[in-house]
Amino acid sequence: MYELTICHLYPDLMNLYGDRGNIITLTKRCQWRGIEVKIIPVSLGDEFRYKDYDIIFIGGGQDYEQTILQDDLMRSKRQPIIEAVESSKVVLGICGGFQLLGKYYRTHTGSEIECIGALDLWTHGGETRLIGNLVIECDFLKGKDPQGYVVGFENHSGKTYLGEGVKPLGKVIKGFGNNGEDGFEGAIYKNTYCSYSHGSLLPKNPVLADHLITLALLNKYPDFMGLEPLSDTLEQQAHDTVIARIISE
Ligand code: GLN
Repeated sequence: MYELTICHLYPDLMNLYGDRGNIITLTKRCQWRGIEVKIIPVSLGDEFRYKDYDIIFIGGGQDYEQTILQDDLMRSKRQPIIEAVESSKVVLGICGGFQLLGKYYRTHTGSEIECIGALDLWTHGGETRLIGNLVIECDFLKGKDPQGYVVGFENHSGKTYLGEGVKPLGKVIKGFGNNGEDGFEGAIYKNTYCSYSHGSLLPKNPVLADHLITLALLNKYPDFMGLEPLSDTLEQQAHDTVIARIISE
């Protein structure tokens, strides 16, 4: 029997626009295949032992929440998060969580939030918020999804820039993406995946959810042979319909 442990980092602070839906999706898609899932919430003052987890998730939060948790993050979780990322644990960071995995976030008011620095990326707060539906094209999903399209919803003022060695998650088809300038969205480094897509990312994109589950199972069970397919007709129809609508807007 396979088993995965998911760490939900700061679930009480970093949970915007249904980000918790990502945890629910990972859990249900595992359980439907007989894979057991344990969810461990880890927040302020809690110990973070990365070796105990197979998937680490951090959602989005406003600048305010990011400031509240900064002390705790930098004091007790920064180093183990870096080790988790470097040891190829599966990590998913959404919006504010994406920003925190980078080096720093300079807010639009000019205050600088020092971040984990697990990924070579940084964020500058912009004057205007980048809000709306987002469609991106992900090469690594082609073949699993006909066009490799991922759909979500973004709402951020931060503009994120990627450094050497960090690849974008995808190419923007519709929306703003990382900064509204370079045409890219999100980030991939080892098994760490980041995106500005909330709303929620994984329920809307089951192929991406299965990609992350597969990586986590391969990490833990070297003889893992691949996920059983699920009947995703409705999910895929919803995914395709919303993408067609957004692209034609
Ligand atoms: N505070 C960040 C920004 O506005 C992140 C917001 C979010 O997670 N939606 O850029």
